[in-house]
Amino acid sequence: MKKLFTLLTIAVLFSCSSEDNKQVKEDPIIYKYGYDQSKYVFEERKVKRGDTFGDILEDEGIDYPEIYQAIEKTKDDVSFRKLQLGKPYTLIFTNDSIRKLKAFVYHPTIEGYSFIQLRDSVYGKTFSKPRSYKDLSASGTIDNSLYLTLEEQGKDPLLTYYLSDIYAWTIDFFRLDKGDKFKVIYTQAFVDDTIPVAITKVKAAYFLHKGKEQYAFEYETDSIKGIVEYLDQDAKNLRRAFLQSPIKFGRISSRYNLRRRIAYYGNRVRPHKGTDFAAPVGTPILSTANGTITEVSYTRANGRYVKVKHNNTYTTQYLHMQKTNVKVGQFVEQGDVIGFVGMTGNTSGPHVCYRFRKNGVEVDPFKQKLPEAKPINESLKKKYFSDVVLIKSQLDSIVIRNKTSI
Ligand SMILES: [Zn+2]
Repeated sequence: MKKLFTLLTIAVLFSCSSEDNKQVKEDPIIYKYGYDQSKYVFEERKVKRGDTFGDILEDEGIDYPEIYQAIEKTKDDVSFRKLQLGKPYTLIFTNDSIRKLKAFVYHPTIEGYSFIQLRDSVYGKTFSKPRSYKDLSASGTIDNSLYLTLEEQGKDPLLTYYLSDIYAWTIDFFRLDKGDKFKVIYTQAFVDDTIPVAITKVKAAYFLHKGKEQYAFEYETDSIKGIVEYLDQDAKNLRRAFLQSPIKFGRISSRYNLRRRIAYYGNRVRPHKGTDFAAPVGTPILSTANGTITEVSYTRANGRYVKVKHNNTYTTQYLHMQKTNVKVGQFVEQGDVIGFVGMTGNTSGPHVCYRFRKNGVEVDPFKQKLPEAKPINESLKKKYFSDVVLIKSQLDSIVIRNKTSI
């Protein structure tokens, strides 16, 4: 009897373990966006020009009242009002002879996605991955351009944009010299701890340009209003009343020059009382300072142009625009887009001719001693110097990699 029991136990055990084996071999159910991958068909697509959420659904046999209802029901949870050109989305269909669209997933970045379930039980949800942050640094010597220097090092070349914003008033990024040096400490956001998704801020930077050291430290100068500015090693604001350039990137193609000679006019002197910045048609043109729009007009020589009065002393004018973006009487802030680069009027290529007037006379803006931003008060200054000690020493300890020495 005892023997039989033992046999039975073994048999049971045996069958049990074989059962276990079977289960392990079976494919586990894999879900994607909450749908069983073996039971649904996933179609990956990219947003084409003119695609809207409604059009995509309509093409898949969902009629308009249902689309409308889906949008209404989910409008607080997802937004598909603007699908970005070229961004991926996924359609989830039933896997049968008459396939039916069950869900729409829009995932423009790896950071997350928006999901909408259609048909019987409509709902919408937006999922996003948590970000983690790390402080990183970059440094280098300019060989060709800042952008290329960063790219060569495998650093995010978008840092160029941050740095050009910080130094927009004090360093002419069109005229960085070979051999200029820079260091920067910035915060990088990651998802899944390893995939970089964005630079969230520049904490501190250093530039050696034309033999002059220029530090920039991010600092909250007004904690009530939450104003954050960049101050230099003397606690001076890097912001100035005027930007160095009315366009973000491009190059100076012709400088202010009272003795310019032009072959076309028989080498006669034709003074150029503006500074030309060459840039592709459509490049945004920025007001270089706060002011009021006094003219939006067109002449045969100037083409489409805008004039800004900044105060009783200074006015600026921007010529040859493709399109203007402001109205007379409008107040604009420094950096606002007032128009777009074009080649209207008397010009041989796309550029903006930037005219800078002091008391009505056209002068060279690069030769002016322009007003500085308001200095910070003395008590804050003291605090500032002690607050930036640590980050400054971090910046100073970065050894600039010299390309030629590698
Ligand atoms: Zn010009």
